[in-house]
Amino acid sequence: MSWLDEFPERIAALDALHQRRRTREVMPAGGAAVMVDGKRMLAFCSNDYLGLAGHPALVRAACAGAREYGVGSGGSPLVGGHSAANGRLQRELAEFVQMPRALYFYAGYATNIGIVPALVGEGDALFSDALNHACLIDGARLSRAQVHRYPHADWAALERLLAASPARRKLLITDAVFSMDGDVADVPQLLALCERYDALLLLDDAHGFGVLGPQGRGTLAHFGLSGAQASGRILYMATLGKAAGVAGAFVAGPQPLIEWLLQKTRSYIFATAAPPLLASALSASLGLIAQEEQRRTDLRARIAQLRTGLASILPGTGWQLGVSNTAIQPLVIGHNAAALAVMEGLQARGLWVPAIRPPTVPEGTARLRIALSASHTAADVAQLLATLAELAAQHRT
Ligand SMILES: *Cc1c(COP(=O)(O)O)cnc(C)c1O
Repeated sequence: MSWLDEFPERIAALDALHQRRRTREVMPAGGAAVMVDGKRMLAFCSNDYLGLAGHPALVRAACAGAREYGVGSGGSPLVGGHSAANGRLQRELAEFVQMPRALYFYAGYATNIGIVPALVGEGDALFSDALNHACLIDGARLSRAQVHRYPHADWAALERLLAASPARRKLLITDAVFSMDGDVADVPQLLALCERYDALLLLDDAHGFGVLGPQGRGTLAHFGLSGAQASGRILYMATLGKAAGVAGAFVAGPQPLIEWLLQKTRSYIFATAAPPLLASALSASLGLIAQEEQRRTDLRARIAQLRTGLASILPGTGWQLGVSNTAIQPLVIGHNAAALAVMEGLQARGLWVPAIRPPTVPEGTARLRIALSASHTAADVAQLLATLAELAAQHRT
């Protein structure tokens, strides 16, 4: 039998392990609601944390960008595809995160799988948190540097690995806000370790940008480590398809490092630049992120409401709420089948909360990843809590 005939069986094996993923066709339906396969659902699965993805100012800016530049960028940024809109956005992004220079990419995944191998290679050493996002892990693999994986947030283990490494070039890679747990990395501690061991720190702030720090300037600003306090040892990467509500990503840092990345990042050099209309939308988005503090205030209120409500629902269920003060609230259920059952119970009642299963998260920690947004109302969160209380009661009996 040819191996090509094995795919149906291999897919069935995923089904048996409750690991098969599905895509659903969605349409926006006002606020945090979406139409999913024709049915109206209240969604708790979007990373549009500030509710900007459908904002009229962004839509207008995108349309104006399309009229001015057309739709496609036409080529690699280094071979004619770098529009004035993308150039302006790069300067605005650098200013927004108070770093000397920024490079704008079409996607966050492509950024990390490209910049890690541009920075380190064979004979160099990488230090990577066990819960890092897949694209940091893939970037590490592509680099051919030796990868030292440390248990999640275990700084003592990290220090032992750094101290034992004979490599001259050391790169520490980490999510700033962990994408499946919502906890924030202790950046001052990581930076101190990098200084002690002459390492470079690459922070992936996909879930902190726009949400944390004064005016949403991100996790570095949250810790007071940007602007005049910025370190020459940090590369700050963030994505623009989450809180910023558009698409793409950027990496910011010291001039020579960003220039090096421009020269050597294969996923930047050998790929078509992002459409300029997205840069136009992003310029508008940066303005709203900085000005509209109310969105972050609303988001924080929803986070507090959810956590307080769950605290009285969970006892006796065996379910556990992760320690997170960000928009990502992990409700760990345990077994894959149990997590799926809760997800389906919510779904039947018009609530869409994704179940995240291994291998995305460690074995035995299948969970509901509740993503909150400024577009959720207090009534939306109350509805989720009431439904979870109902399912928890069934679960206990
Ligand atoms: C979403 C995400 C990415 C990927 O960004 P895209 O722009 O969606 O490709 C990278 N890192 C983290 C931590 C993410 O959550």
